[in-house]
Amino acid sequence: MRKSSLKNSLKKSPKNSRKVESDPDSIMIVCAHSDDQIFGPGGTIAKYSKEGKKLFTIIFSYGHISAPLLKKEVIISARVKEAKDVDKLMGGTGVVFLGLDENKFIEQFRSKKMYPKLKKLILEKRPSRIFTHSHDDPHPDHRALNNLLMETLDRMRYKCDVYAFDIWTVFNTKRRNYPKIVIDISDTFKLKIKALRMFESQKLSLFSLMWSVYLKAWILGKKNGFKYAEAFYKIR
Ligand SMILES: [Zn+2]
Repeated sequence: MRKSSLKNSLKKSPKNSRKVESDPDSIMIVCAHSDDQIFGPGGTIAKYSKEGKKLFTIIFSYGHISAPLLKKEVIISARVKEAKDVDKLMGGTGVVFLGLDENKFIEQFRSKKMYPKLKKLILEKRPSRIFTHSHDDPHPDHRALNNLLMETLDRMRYKCDVYAFDIWTVFNTKRRNYPKIVIDISDTFKLKIKALRMFESQKLSLFSLMWSVYLKAWILGKKNGFKYAEAFYKIR
């Protein structure tokens, strides 16, 4: 054995070379609040599901702080049920809530030891594509989640494609450097709307935003020659 090849073989010790291969049919959605998974990539994931891909959703919080008038337990059970019902409608394989408090993602991700939990889920599902919030989203929880997820993927040295979605804005000119991907969701847009309407516990805030969901999908569609579309930035 030549010196250099010995060096190479030492470098590739079993521990270091244990590379996890991603599953081309596995798609993961990682978001902050229940309904983000539909608001953002709803039409796209419905499309993938119809193609036979496996969808799995991870939601960081129950979003109970945004509804202070109702009891925490009531909100939590309502959110879990809605998310599971929506997942069934979309043909997903499951939803997991990490149970972090809103506005406290960064500190609680550490104090509640979420890294091993998230890592385990990623290794179990082996997604080839992850859909998540963008790093410059106006919502602080969305930005924090992007940081924590990217940190986790780096720490695990896990390789997969990561696509970022915006909830509020149609275009973000700050991200010209990332390739933009436009998905034709004309066939699944109705399903996206149906899913959004299933988030009963968020009726008030959500239904007032419905017009923006139509407008955004329509503008993106019109610009790209489709009836309705969703757009993502490929951030990795
Ligand atoms: Zn959100």
